[in-house]
Amino acid sequence: MTKNTLSLDSLLELIKQRDPHETEFVQAATEILETVIPFAKSHDKYNNIRLFERLIEPERVIQFRVPWVDDDGNERTNRGFRVQYNNALGPYKGGLRFHPSVNLSILKFLSFEQVFKNSLTGLPLGGGKGGSDFNPKGKSNREIKAFCQSFITELYRFIGSETDIPAGDIGVGSIEIGYMFGQYKRMTNTFNGVLTGKAVSSGGSKLRNEATGYGLVYFLEEMLHENNEELDGKKVLVSGSGNVAQFAAQKAMQMGAKVITMSDSDGTIYCEKGLNEEQFDTIIKLKNEQKGRLSELDGEKGLSFINKKPWDMEADIALPCATQNEITEVGAQNLIENGIKYVAEGANMPCTNEAIALFHEANVYHAPGKASNAGGVSVSGLEMAQNAQKQFWDEETVDKKLRQIMKDIHSSCRKYGKDEDYINYLKGANIAGFIRVAEAMISQGQV
Ligand code: NDP
Repeated sequence: MTKNTLSLDSLLELIKQRDPHETEFVQAATEILETVIPFAKSHDKYNNIRLFERLIEPERVIQFRVPWVDDDGNERTNRGFRVQYNNALGPYKGGLRFHPSVNLSILKFLSFEQVFKNSLTGLPLGGGKGGSDFNPKGKSNREIKAFCQSFITELYRFIGSETDIPAGDIGVGSIEIGYMFGQYKRMTNTFNGVLTGKAVSSGGSKLRNEATGYGLVYFLEEMLHENNEELDGKKVLVSGSGNVAQFAAQKAMQMGAKVITMSDSDGTIYCEKGLNEEQFDTIIKLKNEQKGRLSELDGEKGLSFINKKPWDMEADIALPCATQNEITEVGAQNLIENGIKYVAEGANMPCTNEAIALFHEANVYHAPGKASNAGGVSVSGLEMAQNAQKQFWDEETVDKKLRQIMKDIHSSCRKYGKDEDYINYLKGANIAGFIRVAEAMISQGQV
């Protein structure tokens, strides 16, 4: 137990003492608490160390074994997790990540961030996250199906459409969600909205696939409008070439931006004039159908490949859409020197805290993922609503609602983050997200 007074240092000390090896979780907690605690200290209702002791601790952490058999008949074992962080606002909600780097620190950071993100959407959603250290790369379709079925065979007892509703994340798209949904259905003899990100034929929502990337660009549009600017003609660096990156690049191009780069974990593919439709389609085909590497496109159709991240190219806007900590101090410095004005995070925590500090110092507008990538979970929330009402909404209806949610999130960030002529989006998002969760926790007896 900490002392009776609310203090950032003593809370961070408590976190580090309990879980000294959880570096990503410590990073996320520091980033959130540094902005929320000064606010809470100036509001009697929230100036309560006991509230924060509960807020930083997940309600439940589930870890399990995932046995499966590969194509050569070998018995394989992976680790599965689900962190049910906070359900003050609604059932736990957040994606599943399949990637060899997955561990408890990463899932705790993701689920803690998710609590604030889901709060910002204004929807009745608590926060959670899960996944496995299983590496889907290079696996056959049969292996992926076997793994997904085994994973959900263990997890199914802890989730439900009123309890905890997982979705996709890195390495988990509609194919994997489909395999897990099919197995869940067999085991429970129910058909309900226990997972989101399902194919439309299985009860999924229109635009769920596109939602995170599209939502990111809608949020970016609001940031630009704040300064009387438009996306049309702006040079944009996108990192990643998965779900979020693809639809962010597509929507930015539709709005007239010049998307110069996309990347994968080997490096960056670029076209200084901005990708044209043919180049973009080639990238999408390579990634979605051939499961190839971007380096294979070097020299093809006017595309070039370099073996590094996109952050030392000249541009107006950066959209990091790959993974955590992909923009470090060096990347941020390069971006600033090359004239970047806006950074909107498609990935979760893609900028280190040091990189964010540099953006703030240089008055670069920086939108944290919990605000700018909340489009995915928002349409997941809309998928839950459609499933509960046994309805399907058309694309236009979903797109309109998504746009409005991103606009509202931008307004909340502005409300709590505007200082004179600069908006600190991180501060605004953290405080706005905190207030809703704190209010609910207090009214429920801080349980
Ligand atoms: P995908 O698996 O579809 O794509 C991930 C992309 O990031 C790939 O291009 C991958 O390249 C690249 N990548 C992954 N790890 C690394 C790494 N260590 N270094 C460099 N590149 C890497 O995932 P998503 O697009 O779904 O997710 C991307 C980010 O967006 C994540 O941070 C996720 O948490 C976040 N997000 C996703 C949402 C969603 O709806 N899907 C919602 C909100 C946030 P490679 O193929 O080489 O691994």
